[in-house]
Amino acid sequence: MDRQNFDIAVIGSGPGGYVAAIKASQTGKKVCLIEKGLVGGTCLNVGCIPTKTLLANATVMQKIKHAEDYGITVGPITFSYEKMKTRKDSVVGKIRKSLEGLILSNGITIIRGQAEFLSPTELKVKGDNVLVHASKFIIATGSEPLDIPAFPCDHKKIMNSSSILDITTLPATLAIVGGGYIGCEFASLFAELGVKVIILEALPSIVMAQGTSIAEALTSAFKKKKIEINTGVAVEGIDDLPVGLRVRLKGKDPVMCDMALVSVGRKINSQHLGLDKAGVLVGDKGAIPVNDKMETNVPGIYAIGDVTGKFMLAHVASHQGIIAGAQATGQSAVMHYEAVPAVIFTTPEIATVGMTLEQATEAGYTAAIGKFPFQALGKSIASIETDGFAQIVVDKKTGQILGAQVVGHEASALIAEMGLAIANELTIDCVADTIHAHPTVAEAWLEAALLANDTPIHFPPKIKR
Ligand SMILES: Cc1cc2nc3c(=O)[nH]c(=O)nc-3n(C[C@H](O)[C@H](O)[C@H](O)COP(=O)(O)OP(=O)(O)OC[C@H]3O[C@@H](n4cnc5c(N)ncnc54)[C@H](O)[C@@H]3O)c2cc1C
Repeated sequence: MDRQNFDIAVIGSGPGGYVAAIKASQTGKKVCLIEKGLVGGTCLNVGCIPTKTLLANATVMQKIKHAEDYGITVGPITFSYEKMKTRKDSVVGKIRKSLEGLILSNGITIIRGQAEFLSPTELKVKGDNVLVHASKFIIATGSEPLDIPAFPCDHKKIMNSSSILDITTLPATLAIVGGGYIGCEFASLFAELGVKVIILEALPSIVMAQGTSIAEALTSAFKKKKIEINTGVAVEGIDDLPVGLRVRLKGKDPVMCDMALVSVGRKINSQHLGLDKAGVLVGDKGAIPVNDKMETNVPGIYAIGDVTGKFMLAHVASHQGIIAGAQATGQSAVMHYEAVPAVIFTTPEIATVGMTLEQATEAGYTAAIGKFPFQALGKSIASIETDGFAQIVVDKKTGQILGAQVVGHEASALIAEMGLAIANELTIDCVADTIHAHPTVAEAWLEAALLANDTPIHFPPKIKR
C-alpha cells in the first residue's frame, strides 16, 4: 500500500468537500480529496443539478401550454423524455469535467476509493490502495436515500430519488411516498409532463417544515395541476403486480400506480468510515456532532455538510466547507445559521430564509408580516406570472427583518436579497430606502417592506384615507 502525507485530507467531494479542499489549498497547504464515487457528490450527480435540468424542461412545457395567452399559437405538443434524460446526463457530465479541472487547478490531489480511518491521523483508501497520513481531516461524506425495509426499492418500479433520474420512459401513474421538498419537486416535474401524480404524505400537510402559508400555497397550486395529495396516510407496503404496483395504506383503500418514488428522507453516511478508530463520536441518526467551527470531538477532525445532519442543503454544506477549510488552516471563521435560504423548485417556486411568522412569535418577538401579491406588480402582470406573493417577517419593535418567504416566479433568485438583509441584520427601512429597478419582480420586496410599515404605495391602505 502506497503511503502519502498531506496537511489536510478531505473525505467526500460533494459541495461540502470540494469547497473545503479549495479553501484549504488557498493557503498553500498540501491537500487531498478522497472520493469513492463520482466527483461532485449527491448534488452534482443525483441531486440539485440533474433535478433542476429536468425541471427546466417542465418550465418550457408550461410556457408552451400557455403560449396562446401570449398570442402565440403552437401545434400539438410532443416530446421525448429520453432526450430530456440525455440532456440531463450531458449537463451533469460537463459540469463534473469542469469541476475536476477546477480541483486539479488548485493543486489538490484526487484519490479515488473508499476512505476508512485507522487512527485519528491515518486512513486507508480502498480503490487507489493508499495509506493517507494527515494532520487535519475534514469529513464530508454526505447522505444517501433512505430505504424502508417494508418496501425496499427495486429500482425497476419502486424507485428512489437517484434511480428515478435514470428512467427513459414516463409512467402513466406515479405514487410519491413523501411530500417533502424532494418529493414535491419530482411531483411538479412529472405532473407537468403529463404523468398522473399521487402524493402520499404521513404528516398533515406537504412541505410542512416550510410553515403554514407556504404549505397552503403549494397545496392549492398542486391541486390546480391535478396532483392528488393524500395527507395523514401511512404506507404499509408496496405489492409488485404483473402490471403496476399496489401501494397499501393503513386503514385506507390502496393506491394503484405504475411506478412509485420513495422519498422519505436521507440516511447519513457515517458508517464504514472507521469513526470509532479515530475516536469521533456519532450522534442521533448517525449525524456527527460539530460546533460552530465545524470541529468534531477529536481535535483536528472536522465534519461538514449532510453528515452533520443540520440543514441538508448544498449551499449549507459549501459554507460549512469554507469554515472548516479556514479553521483547518489556522484562520478564524464560524458558522451561522440565521440566514439559510431554502428553495423548492416546484412550479410555482418557493423560497424561504430566516423565520416564519410562527417561529418569530414562538421566539418571543412581536412579529408582523408585510405581504405583497404578485398580482399587483407590473412586471408579473406583463409576464403573466401573477400567482403567489412575497412576504417579510419583521420585528415590530425594531423593524429588523427576521424572515422572508416567496411563492411564485423567480422566487429562487428573489430570496437572495432577503438573505443579505437577514445576515446583515437590516431593517425594513433599509429595504424601503433602497431603489429597486422598475419593472422587476424584486420590487415586491420594496412593497412588502412598505406594507409591513403600513405605508404601501402600490397597494390600497388598510384604513381608507
Ligand atoms: C433529488 C435531490 C435534489 C436536491 N436538490 C437540492 C437543491 O436544489 N438545492 C440544495 O441546496 N440541495 C439539494 N439537495 C441536497 C444536496 O444534494 C445535499 O445537501 C448536498 O449534496 C450535501 O453535500 P455534501 O458535500 O454534504 O455531501 P454529498 O453531496 O452527499 O457528497 C458526499 C460524497 O462523499 C462520498 N463518500 C461517502 N463516503 C465516503 C467514503 N467513506 N470515502 C470516500 N468518499 C465517500 C460520496 O460518494 C459522495 O460523493 C438535493 C438532494 C437530492 C437527493
